[in-house]
Amino acid sequence: MKRIVDPEQMRRFSRRNRSEDRSIGFVPTMGYLHQGHLSLAESSVSECDRTVLSIYVNPTQFGPDEDLDKYPRNMERDLDLAKSIGVDIVFTPETDKMYPAGYRTYVDTEAKFAKGLCARKRPGHFRGVMTVVTKLLNIVEPDMVYFGQKDLQQCIVIGSVIEDLNLPIELKMLPIVREPDGLAMSSRNKYLNNDERSKAPYLYRSLLSASRLIERDQEKDAGKIKEFIRKKLLDNGVDKIDYIEIVHPEDLEPMEEVCGECAILIAAFIGPARLIDNIIVSRQGPE
Ligand code: AMP
Repeated sequence: MKRIVDPEQMRRFSRRNRSEDRSIGFVPTMGYLHQGHLSLAESSVSECDRTVLSIYVNPTQFGPDEDLDKYPRNMERDLDLAKSIGVDIVFTPETDKMYPAGYRTYVDTEAKFAKGLCARKRPGHFRGVMTVVTKLLNIVEPDMVYFGQKDLQQCIVIGSVIEDLNLPIELKMLPIVREPDGLAMSSRNKYLNNDERSKAPYLYRSLLSASRLIERDQEKDAGKIKEFIRKKLLDNGVDKIDYIEIVHPEDLEPMEEVCGECAILIAAFIGPARLIDNIIVSRQGPE
């Protein structure tokens, strides 16, 4: 495994491999790797001839009061983990190459699905994500790019960028990897103290309970299901809820009545950490 810092060297690696007919899978991350990231890289390793994993904490997707400086980092450990699962290249660009002085160009969208949910409390977040991912895709030129359902809104936003900008890349969205108690793995879980960590699994537990209500056809009113989740979170000490939404999984349009497939998404602050989670549920309507 090799670490590449220079974008031009990264591009040369990709071009050489593509000219030799090798497919390239790409896993963009912000590092502090956990099994969620590694599951994406493992899929790429098994499906593509070469796997590139990037580690870059992208400043343009953080708001001024967010955790850019505190974001956890451990490059040595990340390199060992990436190597252990067969990643070929870890690409770690530096900010003076990604956004040199005088940088001007950003990728943005008109899509409604990029305006709600996480975008509401994090203005500019998806503009930063779309910009950096487009830049990384242009440098790495992969055949496949792997994202986690953990960031469902991000997957949909990036899917639309790939489609709208005619990028010849297939996006794969893979399932959420969880801790044994159900907490979705996240680099930000590191911010939790013991008490906060014991509350954090209630995000998933409340999603699971709500999904059972839907699957067993006990409730289809989205407002009532959201209230059920809110109460469950509050009863278990999760009191700073950012949003609870029930939406169509493809376009993230809010639902009033659950029918067919829906996605339930939660964002909540537990101590200093803003955690997100979601579940996709299917309710079969009457024949
Ligand atoms: P991040 O480093 O948080 O920007 O995440 C990089 C990629 O890993 C994104 O596509 C995330 O959706 C994905 N990811 C993060 N956590 C998980 C998880 N628990 N399970 C699956 N994928 C994840």
